[in-house]
Order: sequence, then structure tokens, then C-alpha cells
Amino acid sequence: MSEKVVVVGGGLAGLSAAARLAHNGYQVTLLEKAPKLGGRAISIPLKGFNFNFGAHAIYARDKSILRKFESEMPLHVDWKDFTPSKAFYDMGTFTTPMPATLEGLYRTKVLDSQNKIRFAYEVFKTMTSIERGEDGVLIGDYLKNEPEQIRDLLLTVASSNFFTNEPEKIPSPLFFQYYKRLFSTNRAVSYIGGGWQAIVDSFAKIIEDNGGNIVTKEKVMEVQLEGKWIRTIVGKNDTYQADHFIFCIPPKELSNLFADSSYQNYFTEYQNFSPTQVVVYDIGLSERIASPYTYIYQKAHRVFITDISYYDETCVPKGGQLTQAIAYLNAEEIAEGKADEKVVLIESIYDKHFPGWREKLVAKRVSKKATVQEIKCIEDQRLMPVKFYGLPNAFFAGDWCQGEGQLSELSFTSAYDATSRIMKNSSLNQTHLA
Ligand SMILES: Cc1cc2nc3c(=O)[nH]c(=O)nc-3n(C[C@H](O)[C@H](O)[C@H](O)COP(=O)(O)OP(=O)(O)OC[C@H]3O[C@@H](n4cnc5c(N)ncnc54)[C@H](O)[C@@H]3O)c2cc1C
Repeated sequence: MSEKVVVVGGGLAGLSAAARLAHNGYQVTLLEKAPKLGGRAISIPLKGFNFNFGAHAIYARDKSILRKFESEMPLHVDWKDFTPSKAFYDMGTFTTPMPATLEGLYRTKVLDSQNKIRFAYEVFKTMTSIERGEDGVLIGDYLKNEPEQIRDLLLTVASSNFFTNEPEKIPSPLFFQYYKRLFSTNRAVSYIGGGWQAIVDSFAKIIEDNGGNIVTKEKVMEVQLEGKWIRTIVGKNDTYQADHFIFCIPPKELSNLFADSSYQNYFTEYQNFSPTQVVVYDIGLSERIASPYTYIYQKAHRVFITDISYYDETCVPKGGQLTQAIAYLNAEEIAEGKADEKVVLIESIYDKHFPGWREKLVAKRVSKKATVQEIKCIEDQRLMPVKFYGLPNAFFAGDWCQGEGQLSELSFTSAYDATSRIMKNSSLNQTHLA
């Protein structure tokens, strides 16, 4: 008899965890409260366009955990590599290439020639761990003795990778750890053909092909414990028993689930941390507007536009174009209702770089408060562990959990970690080894 695992939450973390275990012979049940799988990685079809709720950029493809999943199971990922020479900064009065390649570094106007050499040296120091940051020191402070151009560029880069307009608040060790990985990759940014939906479907197929059970519209309401062991979880429609449980739902949901137990306080700290939130403004156009860039970052207001359909033609009707604009928000801006101002700002940036877009507009999707990451990695905000000592058969995964990278990389790496722990200690594994 194979061991039973119940996975709660059908976002990228839950799907990848369930698929890996099902592929390795576990009897898996995946429970998702929504009618559709995918969580924040869903696609929204509208008038022939396929809007991704979130972007589907994968950073450091050759070191990414998706590559590992791909090598272990029949996961289909249609990689579409980003063209770095088409990435530009909008500096207000001029546009200039990003120093994302050697050629970009040579051509960019964000650095003078002396600082270009210095920047290359900074990259070298980061890659070789000569520069590691310092515990308790934020990157804004850590870089304060750097020349203004270098500091400004490093914070701008961090702003776009961490989806934040407060890059100076990123802990310096995390900053250097992140960029050590990113600078050492041959493919810093890639997209996925078919968007996240293709990955969602592929994980779901692996679960079902291996006898796994996927139950949608099943909100998990309660956990029942015997001492420190979880024995049963209670859903809206049914109850479920298993040997191991992986919870891929955010801390606030976990706090509700464990409300009647002494374990609720495990989650309170993480529930109170602030998320990374943005304004998203996607437009679907009837025909392409020619542009020298596929990514333009407006530096003054920290807004970027990506021409998604340049990389993934499947998201548009023939000849059409789909672009995504993202403006970062911090807690004060949300409280002060600045999201509406950002919408107007984004439209003006579209006017500047995609003139005529209003006449060609077929469909648009605006979200004034999209949660990119449940726990924003700034200051003393910590990510949640994948496992607590006090709950032996419970595991946790999601972009609020400890792992590598940021955004979905955290979902995937924590899911990989949780499933590795189950497989390492499982009797099923012992049988396989014997
Ligand atoms: C605008 C935007 C842009 C983004 N861009 C990128 C990008 O370029 N690159 C990148 O890597 N990432 C990006 N992301 C982030 C990425 O989408 C997320 O990190 C990832 O999808 C999170 O997956 P998850 O499984 O960890 O969490 P979620 O997607 O939140 O999944 C949690 C799931 O649990 C379900 N659930 C909750 N409570 C219960 C319950 N009680 N019972 C049953 N089910 C429950 C929810 O319905 C949900 O499906 C972006 C996100 C947004 C919003």
C-alpha cells in the first residue's frame, strides 16, 4: 500500500508538490477551494486574448527549480528566452539600453565609463561571494558609500526583480545571495509559451496520470489532531485522512485552520507581515505597435511594460499584441488610494511608448491591488519554515515559505523541499531502496 498525502491548495506550490509525489508512487489528493486550479497563476481568457493573472517570467532559467522538476517528470515547459538587447530604461528625457549584457553595458547611458568598469567589478564580486552583505544591514545602507550611479543602478535592478518600490529595504545578505545566482546564469529571464496555464495543466496531468485525485471547490476548514499528529482534515464537502499533509495555503488561511489548536500562534507572525502588491494593467491590441523594446522600465515612477506577446504568441489572436504594465505599491500608497493615480500614470507611459494603443484596444485587465508575493522580503519580515518541529506530519510550501529566489521560485523551491523531506523519511522510499 502506498503512503497517502493530502495537499491543500492548488496554486503552483500545491500542484508541483502533488505532481512530484504522485510521480513517485504516493497516493495523492489535492484540494483546491476555487473552481479552477492555478491560484495566482491562473489565465483569464477575454475576447481572444489570454491574460495571465501574474506575469510568467522565470528568472535564472538554467538554475531554476522548474528545470529540476522538468528533468524528473514529464513536465512540459515551452521556454521562451528574453532578448536582453530589447530591454531599455526610460530616463524621462531619453531611453537607454539596460546593462544586461556586455553590449548593453557598453551602450548604456546610466553609467559613465568609469562606473561601467566599477559596475563590472561589482558583478564579479557578487558572483565570487567577495561581496555578501551583512546581517542586520539593509542594502540601501550597505551601498551608501558606492558612487551614486552604481548605487542607483543596483537598487533599480533590485526594484524590478523583487517587484518593489522600496528596494533599499531589502536585507543585504539576501540581495547578494539573489544576485550571485542571477549574475551567474546564461539566461537571466525567460517566459513560458502558453503562460502559467501551460504549467498548471501539465502538473495537473501528471497528478491524474499517476492516479492522483484533484478536488476543486473544496475549501479546507479545519484540521483534527491527535497530540501533535494531524489525522484528518475537514473540507466543506468531505473529510480526508493521510499519512502526510502539505499545506500550500497562505499564513492567514493556516491561522484559521489551526484556530482551535495550540499551534495557531505558529502562523500569527507570518500572517501579520505585509505582502508585495502591485497595480497591473494589461492591454490586448488588434494589431502590433512596432517598438524597439520588449521591456521598458520607467525609472522615475518605477513602472515597467513587457510585450508578453512578443515572446508568447499563444496569448493573442493572429496579428494582435498583449502587453503588461506593472507599477509597484507600498503599504502607504495603498492606504492613500494611490492605485488610481498609478492607473493614470501607466496610461501615460503606454501613450509614450505604444502610441495609438487606445485606438487598437480590444480588451484590457486592470488590477489595482494584485498580490505578487504573500510576504515581502524587506527589513525583518521573515519567510515561514517548510516544517515546524512541533508538527511532524505537516509540511508547508508557497511564496511565503523559505526557499530560493523570489516570487514563484519560492513556491517551487519550498514545494520541492517539502516533498524531498517526505520522500527521504518515507517507508515507501525504504521499500524502493530495498
Ligand atoms: C501581477 C503578478 C505578477 C507576477 N509576476 C511573476 C513573475 O514574473 N515571475 C514569477 O516567478 N512570479 C510572478 N508572480 C508571482 C506568482 O504568481 C506567485 O508567486 C505564485 O503563483 C504563488 O503560487 P502559490 O502556490 O505559492 O500560492 P497561490 O497561488 O496563492 O496558491 C494558493 C492556493 O490555495 C488555495 N486555497 C487557499 N485557501 C484554501 C483552503 N482553505 N482550502 C483549499 N484551498 C485553498 C487558493 O485558492 C490558491 O489556489 C506574479 C504575481 C502577480 C500577482
